[in-house]
Amino acid sequence: MNAPAVIPAIVPAIVPPGGTIGIIGGGQLGRMTALAAAAMGYRCHIFCPEPDSPAFAVAAEHTIAEYTDREALGRFADAVDVVTFEFENIPHESVQILADHVVVRPSWECLHISQDRLIEKDFLNGIGIATTAYRRIEGPDMLRQAIAEIGPRAVLKTVRMGYDGKGQVMMKEGMEADDAWARMGGPLGILEAFVDYEREISVVIARGPDGKSVAFEPVENRHANHILDVTIAPANIPAEMAERAVTMATRTVEAMDLIGLLAVEMFVGRDGTLLVNELAPRPHNSGHWSMDACVTGQFEQFVRAVCGLPLGSPERHSDAVMKNLLGHDVDGWAEYLTHPNAKLHLYGKKEARPGRKMGHVNTLYPKGSGPRG
Ligand code: AMP
Repeated sequence: MNAPAVIPAIVPAIVPPGGTIGIIGGGQLGRMTALAAAAMGYRCHIFCPEPDSPAFAVAAEHTIAEYTDREALGRFADAVDVVTFEFENIPHESVQILADHVVVRPSWECLHISQDRLIEKDFLNGIGIATTAYRRIEGPDMLRQAIAEIGPRAVLKTVRMGYDGKGQVMMKEGMEADDAWARMGGPLGILEAFVDYEREISVVIARGPDGKSVAFEPVENRHANHILDVTIAPANIPAEMAERAVTMATRTVEAMDLIGLLAVEMFVGRDGTLLVNELAPRPHNSGHWSMDACVTGQFEQFVRAVCGLPLGSPERHSDAVMKNLLGHDVDGWAEYLTHPNAKLHLYGKKEARPGRKMGHVNTLYPKGSGPRG
């Protein structure tokens, strides 16, 4: 007798072109996802509380409602074929409402890990991925104790909702614990040992419902005033280290069972060790270079992963430098257009407030000839 055909236990749900992708969050990441989705024949429906969100202008539909509005979330979920996020700080009850109606990728468990710096670091260490030393901080007394254990060179951060350096206090010798706690300004903190890193790198990795993952090459990130300023692709690190970084990202995305994109930010120690700083389960600012320098850019890859399509090649055909245009930097748009190898991306935001991400420019160089970090 012939052996029966092997039937996979879980048939990955595919959302074919023509379907509607629901995106939670309406910022530039949602906008660029919607543009990539449209190029592949999808419609997008954006859910965001702010009127005039950058993604609305390029999406088929939008809902303006709070992330806690159960009825609006239910109607939104019924109107789309799959839900994903460009903004992950939404209450998990809201994600569960969505998941009751429709496929949600990545799952709420993935968001839960990345929403909370303590859970994130516990998770990473639990799967054998190194981070800097850290302690949970509930008030100034615990902070004093943790400084005694970790040392005075440390960073105090809010456990939740911090981004772009907000809710962070760089601790120094002699700094008052009460002061630092008050400045951090959150109900729960994490004290991290300061990492005297040589450089910061990141890996953006995609994973589909079939469990296959593909990573973009590691890139170097430089910050100014705690906000990403420049990404240099590829990172100027030895091939062995790049391989190690991709292996760490792969292990993380698999352990999270994440479907979609995961950005893994890492510190490169002066001794060559890699420590993971942060995870983001969505397209990432440090992946914008790939839009113009790779066969498949991060937004197309995101759409492919979330919709269960085969992942594209992440191969880099050019070197690239991505520069963020913050606030009034955007006023220089005309100048960028005169550079033959510069690709300008603007987010359509009306008001150029200081530090606000208004756009970015990817400058391309023949492979192997770009500026090295
Ligand atoms: P984060 O919000 O965790 O991504 O931190 C923002 C930036 O602050 C990082 O990109 C680093 O430049 C710096 N930073 C954060 N944590 C540490 C740390 N433990 N040691 C040294 N620098 C840090």
